[in-house]
Order: sequence, then structure tokens, then C-alpha cells
Amino acid sequence: MSLQDFAGQTIIVTGAGSGIGRVTALRLAERGAHVIVADISDSAEDVVKEITDAGGQASAAVGDISDQQVVDDVVAQAVDTGGRLGLVNNAGIMDKFDGAAETEDAVWERCLRINLTAPFLLTRAVLPHMQRQGAGSIVMVSSIWGLRGAACEAAYSASKAGLTGLCQALAREAGPCGIRANALAPGVIDTDMLSGYTPDELNELRRATPLGRLGTPQDVAAAAYFLCSDEASFITGQVLAVDGGYL
Ligand code: NAD
Repeated sequence: MSLQDFAGQTIIVTGAGSGIGRVTALRLAERGAHVIVADISDSAEDVVKEITDAGGQASAAVGDISDQQVVDDVVAQAVDTGGRLGLVNNAGIMDKFDGAAETEDAVWERCLRINLTAPFLLTRAVLPHMQRQGAGSIVMVSSIWGLRGAACEAAYSASKAGLTGLCQALAREAGPCGIRANALAPGVIDTDMLSGYTPDELNELRRATPLGRLGTPQDVAAAAYFLCSDEASFITGQVLAVDGGYL
């Protein structure tokens, strides 16, 4: 790939204030994209600074991406920036480890709202623009738990399984307009999201991974970057596990 693969493109990366989203944003910007760094945390501003200090282009969009008004503002910001629009639906939460029978409505609804509804709202908002441009790549960051389910993570597993369904539906529906939709299913990736696991649990997960280590945000960002790029121009409706062989 050339050094400026993404020149002339504006790519929204949600949850880009940390972890997988941050590294994905840095990589896309390194290769010429203008990245809209969308995050509920002010850390989005730090990532924009990191990108612009390195000579790249980015702007921050701070807000809750599950809010329709924030979605409209983020997409308007991206459209005003100009260029070909792309979307990486990466923001997500995993904040409760409850058995299904103990999962409260509020926990279920918050998880589904942020992990599944927000990507839908963003997708719905970018589609008309992508249809007009006759191209576009949408990447959903799902999870291996969305493929095989995880005990005590019913809401999270359901939300991530929903994302792969959304991606596959979109691939069929929007493919004729030149729009691609793919999902990533990361395994156990060393980010803040793992803070709820004990060291013993992490060691167990490491042992269960054939490649014998936790993944890094860079491992996932490389796959996100590929699926966004024109190198993946005949790939749509796929779910790519980035899991060291865990599944
Ligand atoms: P992370 O916690 O470092 O990053 C998540 C980011 O999303 C944070 O910056 C957070 O502020 C942002 N965010 C959360 N809610 C938001 C909202 N409502 N609006 C806007 N931004 C919001 O974790 P990560 O591991 O980098 O997670 C990125 C994605 O990868 C998530 O969707 C997660 O479910 C998925 N994933 C992670 C792992 C893992 O092991 N780390 C495994 C599989 C899938």
C-alpha cells in the first residue's frame, strides 16, 4: 500500500479516545485520512493532538455516540470536512459481569444502546452520503463473545452478535451501491476494557489462546485498517476474528 492510501478520505472512528480506536485512528491518519476522533471522553482531544503533532489531520467530536443529536453532529462534521466518507464503529462498553438471570433492565439497555444501537444510528446517518459517493467502507468492532457467547456477559454477547447481523445485512443491502460492511471479532486485547478481569483470569485467557499472548490494540487496528482500505475492495459481509486462534 502506498503511504497516502487514505488521502481524500474522512473516516469517523468511534471510541477513538483510547485502546483499539485510538491506534486505528493513528494508523488511518498516518496514511492520509482525516480522522474524526469521536469519543465520550475528552481523551479524543489528546488523540487529535497526537495526530496533528505528527503531521496528520484529525478533529475531535466529544459526546455520547448513542445520542441521536451527537450522531447527527458527528456525521455533519465529517461531511463538512469533505472527501470520501468511511466509518469504524468501535466504541463499546463491557461494564458488568452478571448472570443472565440477574441482569437488570438498565444494564441490558445501556449495553445494547451503546454497543448496537449507536453503530446502527451512525450507519443509518452515513449511508445516504455513501450512496451518493457510490463507495464506502463500514467496519464494526464486534467480539469473539458475539460469535460464541460468554458466561455472565449476556448483554455484551448479544450486543456484539447483533453487530455481525447488522454488518451482514448491510453488506447485502448496500453492496450494489459500492458500500462494504465488515466486522472484526477481537479476542482478548490488552486495553482498559480488561480492567474487570483478575490477573488469574487473564492468565487463563492467555493460556487458552494458541498464540500464547493477549492481543494488542495494534493487532486489531491493522485489521481495521485493511478492511477500510481499497485493498479489501472485494471483501464484504465478513467477520474477521483477530484472536490469536482463541475460537
Ligand atoms: P477501551 O475501553 O479502551 O475503548 C473504548 C472507548 O469507547 C473508550 O475510549 C470510551 O470512552 C469510548 N466510549 C464508550 N462509550 C462511549 C459512548 N457512549 N460514546 C462515545 N464513546 C464511547 O476498550 P477497547 O478494548 O479499545 O474497546 C474497543 C472496542 O473493541 C469495543 O467495542 C469493545 O467491545 C471491542 N472489543 C474489545 C476487546 C478487548 O479485549 N479489549 C475484545 C473484543 C472486542
